[in-house]
Amino acid sequence: MKLTDLSTIRMLQKKYGFHSKKKFGQNFLMDEQVVAQTIQGAGIDQDDVVVEIGPGMGTMTRALAESAKAVLAVEIDEKLRRLLAETVPFENVQILFQDVMKTDLDQVVKEKFGVESYKVVANLPYYITTPIIMKLLEEQKNIQSITVMTQKEVANRMQAHPGTKDYGALSVAVRFYAEAKVLVNVGRNSFYPAPKVESAVIGLTIRNRPPVEVLDDAMFFQVLKGAFQQRRKTLLNSLSHNLGFIGKEELRDLLQELDIEPNRRGETLGIEEFSALSNRLYHIKIGIDKQ
Ligand code: SAM
Repeated sequence: MKLTDLSTIRMLQKKYGFHSKKKFGQNFLMDEQVVAQTIQGAGIDQDDVVVEIGPGMGTMTRALAESAKAVLAVEIDEKLRRLLAETVPFENVQILFQDVMKTDLDQVVKEKFGVESYKVVANLPYYITTPIIMKLLEEQKNIQSITVMTQKEVANRMQAHPGTKDYGALSVAVRFYAEAKVLVNVGRNSFYPAPKVESAVIGLTIRNRPPVEVLDDAMFFQVLKGAFQQRRKTLLNSLSHNLGFIGKEELRDLLQELDIEPNRRGETLGIEEFSALSNRLYHIKIGIDKQ
């Protein structure tokens, strides 16, 4: 069975009375080369346990089953259950029908396969890409790498550098946890139905430790959010608006002490500057809390 053929996709959808749902971001991959490039880019071999988010009709799942030791596929759409039973008849694949946002992947992988470490591979649903990536990075500690298809624009944001138009809170957050590299650009016609946007496969290799020392993750992410919330405002204005515990003048002095010009915009700061700033703000905040 060749799931990358449009005639096979249509035949299966008809057989199981299945219709693609926009609300679940269902654009199925029909490009064999992209499937192979994704698995190769993820460096999957017979020792790997892989988690696939959103198997859909099973195109990537079938290829993963052949390359990996075991696969856990998490799919939100119950309506794909019978179809997937036909397209993915592999003993090393387990399919869980539930929302990945409500799934503790570390725990399920350990329970089902008795191992800790695993890789994530997915053609992600675009309506929820950033929340899924942030959940994987923040909450799941046993992931080795994440290789995912996303909207091209989001992939570019994940690997962007300071001072570029794509640089934002997501770029810094991703850099904090991983090394990012766009692996393949993918056109709209590689999917059925074709999405409105271009896509790209990005590889995130999880770091053993962040590239900067951060005293308090919550403060670091609060500063990031504050700095990028209103991109056209200066750092001083947007941060003093977003951080409730420090006055504008005190913040101006602090920025100057750190050699960060208060009139700069958040999008020009590198991760080292964000960590230095958030560490100082954390000290100020705990000083206040103790009073
Ligand atoms: N992997 C398939 C492929 O490449 O053809 C399908 C990819 S499609 C872009 C995204 C898949 O994610 C769909 O099957 C969709 O039902 C599923 N999905 C959407 N939201 C999800 C969620 N919150 N948890 C798990 N799966 C989800």
